[in-house]
Amino acid sequence: MTAPITAAMLYDLVGCPHRVTMDLFAEPAQRDEPNAFVELLWERGSLYEREVIAGLKTPFTDLSPFAAEEKERLTLEAMGRGDALIYGGRIQADGLLGDPDLLRKEGAGYIAGDIKSGAGEEGPEDDSKPKIRYAVQLGLYTDILERKGLSGARRAFVWDIHGDEVSYDFQEPYGKRDQRTLWDDYQEALAEAEAIVAGRQQTLPAYGAVCKLCHWYSACVKSLKEAGDLTMIPELGRSRRDTMYGAVRSVAQFAAADPATFLAGKKTVFPGIGPDTLQKFHDRAKLLTADDARPFLRSPIHLPDFERELFFDIEVDPMRDVCYLHGFVDRRGRVNGSEQFVFAFVDDIAPESERQAFARALDLIRERQPCAIYYYSKYERTIYRKLQQKYPDVCSAQDIEDLFDPAHAIDLYNDVVKKATEWPTWDFSIKTLAKYLGFSWRDTHPSGAASIEWFHRWVATGDPAIRQRVLDYNEDDCRATRVLRDALDDLTVIPRGAA
Ligand code: SF4
Repeated sequence: MTAPITAAMLYDLVGCPHRVTMDLFAEPAQRDEPNAFVELLWERGSLYEREVIAGLKTPFTDLSPFAAEEKERLTLEAMGRGDALIYGGRIQADGLLGDPDLLRKEGAGYIAGDIKSGAGEEGPEDDSKPKIRYAVQLGLYTDILERKGLSGARRAFVWDIHGDEVSYDFQEPYGKRDQRTLWDDYQEALAEAEAIVAGRQQTLPAYGAVCKLCHWYSACVKSLKEAGDLTMIPELGRSRRDTMYGAVRSVAQFAAADPATFLAGKKTVFPGIGPDTLQKFHDRAKLLTADDARPFLRSPIHLPDFERELFFDIEVDPMRDVCYLHGFVDRRGRVNGSEQFVFAFVDDIAPESERQAFARALDLIRERQPCAIYYYSKYERTIYRKLQQKYPDVCSAQDIEDLFDPAHAIDLYNDVVKKATEWPTWDFSIKTLAKYLGFSWRDTHPSGAASIEWFHRWVATGDPAIRQRVLDYNEDDCRATRVLRDALDDLTVIPRGAA
């Protein structure tokens, strides 16, 4: 008997199809220990769901205490009676199995909904879009309702962390020029899941950001290394790997090949991969396989020349939507012995505490200006713009733009590393590059996700040792940014194709 297709399976598949394969067919002994941050996400999700349900003013049928066949039978009975709202039901049809949080009477049938402890959509506020990972789950419920003749409409909803109901309309095209719909996305994910479950489709691991929180991380990294998989080339990714796989199987094979053999006129033989991009990945393949590989510059870089430098990093809890720590390593005269770690930490999770920490962080910067400010990714600027909108009494929007003026504030990731450097590493995260440069974090399991989990524990317990762990991790992140900044001075320029 094949496994049923579930909403969780489709959710995982959108992030990585190989995860579905591993969950179904890999040896359980190969799984890593549960990740504390992933467990926290589950806990927060369940807690939020319970809070929402406890606060419901409208009557509903509660099937959450029941399980398996009994839950399914009671769900069908409740829909047969025409109950207005059903919580914690179960539906299935044709090998599809769904546990929608909510089923709501709509017209002659039902539509499904989920309660999510995150935003119901993603992207910028003025152009936010449904989340595909949510859409495929809701699509599965809707499909089951249709197959059972119980659907009220090809539509579903999310009750999100902001208390909003976000509609997921499966019929509406993405845009005038893009006639694709969420239903198409769902159908595609379903077809792929069915092929994997039936053993008709084999999948390969692909190294990516999603791997870091996955319980198959160790097993997949081992496979990737053994195969010399192309996704170990930074930014190449799963879809380009799949496009190239018929002609090139490994990093070593790619590095040894002449990239000209993959050219066809002004294009390459790989759809969607241009000659410049192919050359860039070829250089990276050579760098990854060379015995004496060293990082280098693609083009000259110019960093601001200030006597004082701030290496800046923030910590944000997306579940509580709070920026809880602003950390700075302050260095004078390029002398590492002069370094001082200064920070603004919230006292608790109340908005007033976040406001005060934000104001204090701005003071810490102002007191040190003029100075160069180094940070890693657009995240700091994005969060500061958001904090300014949340607390307009603290500073103006122009103050934030002035703070991040590229004349003195440098996003080392986007403006330097991505644009002008190459490294013999699998990715360009600050952790990877600083570790490559010999820097080590004091914590044995440093990560932004771990910091959030520690923050939650500090909020729950008030334990000063946990607070110190959060601070040490942030300080080390700031120092890692300084290590990277200094290493850039030693890199030499090698143009594309000459590596
Ligand atoms: S570790 Fe990465 S490649 Fe492996 S299953 Fe998880 S997400 Fe997929």
